[in-house]
Amino acid sequence: MNRFIKYIHKTTMKKFYTETLLKKTVSSKKGVIILMYHSITDNNLSTYPYAIKKEHFEEQIRFLSENFNMISLNQGFEMLKNNDNMLKNKPYCIITFDDGFKNNYTVAYPILCKYNAPFTIFLTTNYIDQNNESYLNWEDVLKMCQNPLANFGAHTLNHMNLNALEKKDIENEIIQSKEIIESKLSKKVDFFAYPGGSHNQTAVNIVKNNFIAGLKDRIGNDHFNYFALDRISIDKKNENFKEFLVSLALSNFLTPGV
Ligand SMILES: [Zn+2]
Repeated sequence: MNRFIKYIHKTTMKKFYTETLLKKTVSSKKGVIILMYHSITDNNLSTYPYAIKKEHFEEQIRFLSENFNMISLNQGFEMLKNNDNMLKNKPYCIITFDDGFKNNYTVAYPILCKYNAPFTIFLTTNYIDQNNESYLNWEDVLKMCQNPLANFGAHTLNHMNLNALEKKDIENEIIQSKEIIESKLSKKVDFFAYPGGSHNQTAVNIVKNNFIAGLKDRIGNDHFNYFALDRISIDKKNENFKEFLVSLALSNFLTPGV
């Protein structure tokens, strides 16, 4: 869908579609959608553009758990690869979080458990255990890791723009973050998310050699690539329930064999 048509659709939906119609439109879609969250806050004063309110998050997860099959990244990846007959069923949803905010554990995690929703958190490893109360520490990560709903992926060491780095530094950022998480959790790390979504061919090749898939953060370019999988960002712009539904209604869902 080109940008102009999308804009017209968006305006029409926001103006004329009722919430009931939007819910129907979204729940009749086919395929998999990957959602990207960052910070889920119970502090309404946060101005960080990627922080959304706890109440909105819970409303979204409740809707998703009632209308979607909530699956892990691994399950989604297997289904896409193996042409599972996913298109006959209700749509699938994969929940991901980037950066490793503390409130993923303190605020989002209890809600995800309540609705039995699998999730993956992409950790920027140098943010973890720095005595920075905004981010998770390894103890939080290890506690969640005991729950089969939880999965962890790599999101580099320092969250730098990979396009601005030399090959050797891109390798360090990607591979070392994976190795650190694997050694802390004694578990293989299969997925990588590009910081800020920026991914040049060098980064993609390194991810190909070390992971089963890579995820980026924007939806819309129509190519399908297991090492630059599209996600839809849920942030201040679309945290409100109707805006959230419009975003989902306008998104391309991933389908097998594309
Ligand atoms: Zn990030």
